[in-house]
Amino acid sequence: MAQAALANACWQKILLGFLCVAAWCLPPRLAAQDRSFDQVSPYRDLLERIRAKGAVRDEAASPKPRSGSLGANEVSSSDSLLPPDRLAELFKLVIGPMPQGRRRFFLPDRTPQAARHAEELRTWLDNAGLLEETTSALLTARPNEAQWVLGSPASRATQAEKSLPEGLTAKRASQSYSLLGWNPGTYAFVQSEHYEVFSQAGEKSSIEVALACESIRQVWQNVFETVLKPDASNQASGLDRIVLFRSRDAYVRALRTIEPRIAISTGYYSPSHRTVFFYWEGAKSLPTLVHEVTHQLFDRSSSYGFDPDKSPGFWVIEGAALYMESWSEETIGGLRIIDIGGWDAPRLQASRFRRLRDQYWIPWDEFSRANGERLRKESDVAAWYSQACGLAHFGLDQTPGQQTTERREKFLKYLGSVYRNEGRGANAFFDSDNGLIQDYDTYLQVSHLQDSPRPPIARRNEIVLTRCDVNDDQLLSWDASSRKLEWLDLGFTQVTDRLFLEVDQPTWDVKRLSLELTNISDASMSSIAAMDNLTELDLTECKVTDRGIAELAKHRSLRKLWVGGTQVSDESIEVLSSIPKLESLIYEGSAITPQGFVQLARKNPLLRRKPRP
Ligand SMILES: [Zn+2]
Repeated sequence: MAQAALANACWQKILLGFLCVAAWCLPPRLAAQDRSFDQVSPYRDLLERIRAKGAVRDEAASPKPRSGSLGANEVSSSDSLLPPDRLAELFKLVIGPMPQGRRRFFLPDRTPQAARHAEELRTWLDNAGLLEETTSALLTARPNEAQWVLGSPASRATQAEKSLPEGLTAKRASQSYSLLGWNPGTYAFVQSEHYEVFSQAGEKSSIEVALACESIRQVWQNVFETVLKPDASNQASGLDRIVLFRSRDAYVRALRTIEPRIAISTGYYSPSHRTVFFYWEGAKSLPTLVHEVTHQLFDRSSSYGFDPDKSPGFWVIEGAALYMESWSEETIGGLRIIDIGGWDAPRLQASRFRRLRDQYWIPWDEFSRANGERLRKESDVAAWYSQACGLAHFGLDQTPGQQTTERREKFLKYLGSVYRNEGRGANAFFDSDNGLIQDYDTYLQVSHLQDSPRPPIARRNEIVLTRCDVNDDQLLSWDASSRKLEWLDLGFTQVTDRLFLEVDQPTWDVKRLSLELTNISDASMSSIAAMDNLTELDLTECKVTDRGIAELAKHRSLRKLWVGGTQVSDESIEVLSSIPKLESLIYEGSAITPQGFVQLARKNPLLRRKPRP
């Protein structure tokens, strides 16, 4: 399962200067309930009452609230409707305690639709009889941010949607842009406080990108404020430049001459032009924009000669950008909630998998000395990125029971010294090899305890906990929407059948599920078989027999099944042949015989074509 899963997850990041191929982002399906918060919070009753409005079907009296989600693939516009139970979860992100293992930021939504969204939410709460109570809860818990959620009298007074947010200007460019051969009048020029966007994309995209860049800058300053304290002479002058193409095709065509391998990228920061080149496909492009703009921010604020080709310590430059790429966002009314870092960040799952499952480790000396040139020659760049991403999270996230403040300071010092091109001397700030590996492993194994259950925020629906210190109780604290996952890897953990058999629990809905070498037995199989979206199931070395496999008969979506090392035998051939989409069966070490497999392959044309993965 491992390799297939890795291939599917696509965390390839291919490196050319700062040219990076970002992973696609997955639709946000997460929602976790912090039960301890629910049990003790003075706001518990309010959240319950908001949730209860979901049961009211009188749409006129109780219209569904609107909200949007910039970090969400499936919510491409901010006009999507949210059910009240989801709304209650988002309110909890605002009024609940701040998370410890990650950074959370609240920003006002500056898009033209924000005032309308705030007003719609206010109207909905008013109709539901909850406005006064909600306003009071917001003012108590988040006095500074409350007005953004439901709008202020001032924002209501000017509610008519302006096409251009405050502080932005947009016009047709009157000069040519010679680097790309753009003629006057053929592209737009959008300017915000710190950015100039040269754009052949539409005005809406250009404004979204300018606003996104301002937000990224704001968050970046908070996260890395202690790294770079450039003196006045080092401050970059002028605005930071973003070039926005109308499509991916246009991006590739235009940049081929500047960067021959541009086709493998989804965004590009060119240090020589000090420009981010980009195309915008809505919310799914945001993580890549965050990554590239992070490179630009560091580079622009540190004119002390870090050379991406020649300078050692390249990993930490990428690590910081990968850490920022964990950007996960929700909006409620006119408020944006942004989480950075945390154990469930999308790219960190690959780091955990490679290190804990495969014991992968690039020796520190080699890793820390590598420069951009070295990485370009590397055949397995994804592995380097996974270690860089993991170590950046290790350096910046909180870990239960570890001295994380000191570690964060060391990491930030190290990052700063690499940017100052101090070469190998930078290592002194970040411990090498033995102690580092042990602490890193501990972080990977236990960091999920820091913010548990997971905050219900977008983009975090692939969870790898292989070889982690995780048990049934922790996982059973996840609520229904937390259990909807693209990938859940619980291999080599202490989980038992209780995970699937506990009564009065929400069901699991997982697409790729690994239970390798766990105590899962036949008892769990009816619950597992009930997951309609299940496409991959790894039962290697589980206590599963033909009786359990019988539950999978005629499963509609299962494509890959691992039963190696189990007692599953030729008796299951009939059942396996009834699974219409099954195309891969890994049975080595089970009681299925080669003859049995041939018999199965005869009945199943998909398997006959592709007997092995
Ligand atoms: Zn990068």
